[in-house]
Amino acid sequence: MTIWFPLKYNEILFILQRHAYTVKLKDEISGKYVEIGNYSPNLKIYVCGPTVYDKPHLGHLRTYVAYDAMVKYMRHRGRSVFYLQNITDIDDKIINRALETGQDPLALSRKYTLDYMDAMKYAGVDSVNYYAMATHHIKDIIKQIKRLEKKGFTYTLPDGVYFRVWMLKNYGRLKHQSPEEQKTGARAKVAELKEDQRDFVLWKFKKEGEPSWRSPWGEGRPGWHIEDTAISLSFFGSRFDLHGAGRDLLFPHNEAELSIMTALKNSENVCPAWSYTGMLKINGEKMSKSLNNFIPVDDVMQKYSREEVRYAFLSSLYPTDLDFSWNMLEESRKNISYIRRSYEKLEKHSQKGASVDVGSYRELLYRNMDDDFNTRIAISILMELASEIMKANSLDSESANEAKKLFDDANTFLGIIPEQKEKGIPEQSVESLLKLRELLRKKKLYPESDAIREALKNAGIIMEDGGNGTEWRRE
Ligand SMILES: [Zn+2]
Repeated sequence: MTIWFPLKYNEILFILQRHAYTVKLKDEISGKYVEIGNYSPNLKIYVCGPTVYDKPHLGHLRTYVAYDAMVKYMRHRGRSVFYLQNITDIDDKIINRALETGQDPLALSRKYTLDYMDAMKYAGVDSVNYYAMATHHIKDIIKQIKRLEKKGFTYTLPDGVYFRVWMLKNYGRLKHQSPEEQKTGARAKVAELKEDQRDFVLWKFKKEGEPSWRSPWGEGRPGWHIEDTAISLSFFGSRFDLHGAGRDLLFPHNEAELSIMTALKNSENVCPAWSYTGMLKINGEKMSKSLNNFIPVDDVMQKYSREEVRYAFLSSLYPTDLDFSWNMLEESRKNISYIRRSYEKLEKHSQKGASVDVGSYRELLYRNMDDDFNTRIAISILMELASEIMKANSLDSESANEAKKLFDDANTFLGIIPEQKEKGIPEQSVESLLKLRELLRKKKLYPESDAIREALKNAGIIMEDGGNGTEWRRE
């Protein structure tokens, strides 16, 4: 017998998910808060990845830790998220650096891609489902340019194929600039040959010594902007939920991406939310290579833990600029140790302990995270809970369990509480004591050897004497 059911599994899932958790986030184009997560059961998120031509620095970490926390939070609230990030592994900056240093451009970008991955691993950024390398998507890029060509959006100059901006009446939506403002601000470098100063290159023709691929327009390589749209649209189709990036990529890079998408899909709403992380500054200036004021991740890795770095960045609102100081990391260290101590104190709960309303802490924390991912307040709520725990002699069992659960839950997306260090006697000391015990037994000093056995037992070490000597494990 078959049971008649009017809806397919996917349709039921879709309806259920539609009423599931959504998140409010500020969209740069409209300047308004929009709700994301209504479009499809699985959220599709694209974040502009790095151009890998140098060591990753703290500015990168700030952006990618922010999106990591956002994605993990949405997953924690029950949403399925596909998080896609590109890696720009072929671009002018890479080629120039390779020429300066006499390296092969693709070998250079491969090296810095690995460095970038190490930096992400250090910072606990492990929520990205797929890192798409631009050079692995040359076919998608060519396909996209062909489609733009068919629609009349391209023209060819001696140095490459260009995108015709004037055909889109809303170019400048992200930067909120009128066509007149755009013209006065732009400098024409490529020559007066361009139809419009705002036009940008989609395919660059090959120059001596540069990596190149075959295309219908001749050998060459992709322009930066189309690398992103070829990747995002080939994975996501006609629509995705969120486009993220550091604020320095808004113009012209993201504006160009938006133009390509609009042209290809005849829609201005391929992505309803464009969000930006603020810049990481040092002494009031943007951390950048050109000002030579950037701090490589390597320098921080030696001195501070993953949790300390995450705490420092997530203690500020992601869209605002953040002034970096070493003191920030020192403060994080102190605060994390405070939370950790309060967390450990939860193990000593008692029937007569104090009762804490952990439910209202949780509610407040979620409410703030739902409001454009306010990690700053989320962290301060955890600090407040920690302080309440530290002030009490002990908590009652229920409060202690709930508090522990809240710390654990928040840690799945914030990642600021370090794992407990190994407790009890270090392994080496156990081994030495066992050797001493063996020696005493050989000398038939049994009371002494038994005393060691007893002391280790009290420290949670279980011993088993067997044919191959004594084996031990922790309780
Ligand atoms: Zn990008």
